[in-house]
Amino acid sequence: MKIFCVGRNYVDHAKELGNEVPAEPVIFMKPKSALLQPHTPFYYPEFSNELHYEIELVLRICKNGKYISERQANKYYNGITVGIDFTARDIQNELKKKGLPWEKAKSWDNSAVVGTWKEVPVDIYKKPINFSLKNNSEVVQTGISSDMMFGFDEIIAHISNYFSLNIGDLIFTGTPAGVGECVVGDVLEGFYEEERLFELEIK
Ligand code: ZN
Repeated sequence: MKIFCVGRNYVDHAKELGNEVPAEPVIFMKPKSALLQPHTPFYYPEFSNELHYEIELVLRICKNGKYISERQANKYYNGITVGIDFTARDIQNELKKKGLPWEKAKSWDNSAVVGTWKEVPVDIYKKPINFSLKNNSEVVQTGISSDMMFGFDEIIAHISNYFSLNIGDLIFTGTPAGVGECVVGDVLEGFYEEERLFELEIK
């Protein structure tokens, strides 16, 4: 199982971190060990002093493929949920300054959290999906899928030009503006429309 993530897929978020808006999807990966297993506590990583949440829509791949066309891409995912791409922002800023890879900031154990899976709606492109994150009961991030620079099918087509996609692979499709810091004791809740798909306490 592989976890792909898209960076800078929402213009407002790219700008809030002072990044250029990319001409093609920015892709990075997390290993299987990054996925927080159900009923497992989430601990603040000891190597960071600036842990950020990033709420994202996450897709689950249901069919093996490579060189998938955009037109065929919708056959390759059947699950969708909201998740958090946890980021050690202090580490990432250091790595970015030096032009180094992001893994230490993004791909550590349990840095990928996913909510309960839902079936992908048939009208996923006609009816954009609203999603949000609450921290201690306050809404801190909201997004809508129609604001993505690269849509679900475009992302899948792009990734599959470089990597084979396999059943069970996950794709974090990028975070909207509003990323921010969380601390021990915070309770994060992820929403897909009005439905809460996860609740997580930072230990
Ligand atoms: Zn992200």
